[in-house]
Amino acid sequence: MNENHKPQYGFTTTILHGDRQKPIEHGSLHKPIHTSVAFGYKDARELAAVFQGRQPGYRYGRQGNPTVSALEDKITKMENGYGTICFSTGMAAIGAVAQALLREGDHVVSSAFLFGNTNSLWQTVGAQGVTVSMVDATEVANVEAALTPATRLVFVETIANPRTQIADLARIGTLCRERGILFIVDNTMTSPYLFQPRAVGAGLVVNALTKSIAGHGIALGGSLTDTGVYDWTRYPHIAENYRKFPPVQWGMAQIRAKALRDFGGTLGPEAAHHIAVGAETMALRLERECSNALSLAEMLDADERVAAVHYPGLKSHPQHALAGELFRAYGSLLSFELKDGIDCFDFLNRLRLAIPASNLGDTRTLVIPVAHTIFYEMGPERRASMGIAESLIRVSVGIEDNADLLEDFRQALAG
Ligand SMILES: *Cc1c(COP(=O)(O)O)cnc(C)c1O
Repeated sequence: MNENHKPQYGFTTTILHGDRQKPIEHGSLHKPIHTSVAFGYKDARELAAVFQGRQPGYRYGRQGNPTVSALEDKITKMENGYGTICFSTGMAAIGAVAQALLREGDHVVSSAFLFGNTNSLWQTVGAQGVTVSMVDATEVANVEAALTPATRLVFVETIANPRTQIADLARIGTLCRERGILFIVDNTMTSPYLFQPRAVGAGLVVNALTKSIAGHGIALGGSLTDTGVYDWTRYPHIAENYRKFPPVQWGMAQIRAKALRDFGGTLGPEAAHHIAVGAETMALRLERECSNALSLAEMLDADERVAAVHYPGLKSHPQHALAGELFRAYGSLLSFELKDGIDCFDFLNRLRLAIPASNLGDTRTLVIPVAHTIFYEMGPERRASMGIAESLIRVSVGIEDNADLLEDFRQALAG
């Protein structure tokens, strides 16, 4: 846990050298992979003190592990937050919000422009007695109009996956602060390198570590970071047990117990290690991916066979100016629609480098026909309400050499 001061070093230096701020076993440059599930103490009273929260330490691997803690500290620094809890996947992190913080009768306001699985999660939660209002969060007025006395939290993504709508982040943050409502931002599409949601008043930040933070597509993981800005004394469901800590710790204490301990979506130490290694090159990868994405978006936009391109870096994007104000770059994800008469499957099959696959933030460029795969289950009506055309192709732009990448799309369009 850090003290929310300005970091001493830049983003990448902090990731590379952060672990060594605490001693590492044998002078190891990487935090070792600790596979032990249990942690022994010479004095049995110490074990009791750890269980009672009077002394820091590990008890059982489901609730914490030294390799995972080192990654949690790294993410806390990336987000300039107060503390972080890691989970087995990004969805486990978002699910933890529902498990730890929501009860029957509660109300949630969520952006309607969402990652498909998060959309599905809100339906699941909706069937368990929580009401979820899905609104167009590019306008704060829509969020405000949906608030009720039972609203516990507002949930948005930074750049929505896959149509790239950008939530009215700063104004929603101000609204939530005024009303004492918890503001949760899924930062996966921007990553803490491009944007820190703490800057717009987010209380909790979600990161799917699987994506840009790891970057290599060899490990799943997710995290929730408490930025330290939310006043937990305004949250009605914090159990008595966690209220004995200082209020800034209430959220993390309840989430670690109620979600991680009770539901067990724990990140394994091997995955934590892979993610930590990947994170070292995040800034370098994102610089390359974002510049590749911008040039690919511009090329597609100028092509007469393309009906529409959705990328915040294009001047035609409705939130282009907002993205420029808030984010360090415009992101590595774009989506586009082919003109009628061009079969999207034929087009995808002509690509030689870009791979039809469902992941984001990978070093390789990945493409997917959205309506036929990740957004298939929700059906045409809901897709239309999210602005998702049946021919929409999502591109997660990788770090390939720019000329090779552009040529691949050019030849696939020509064919
Ligand atoms: C991928 C993704 C998630 C879920 O992460 P998993 O690790 O795949 O569970 C959540 N939010 C967004 C925006 C994502 O892109």
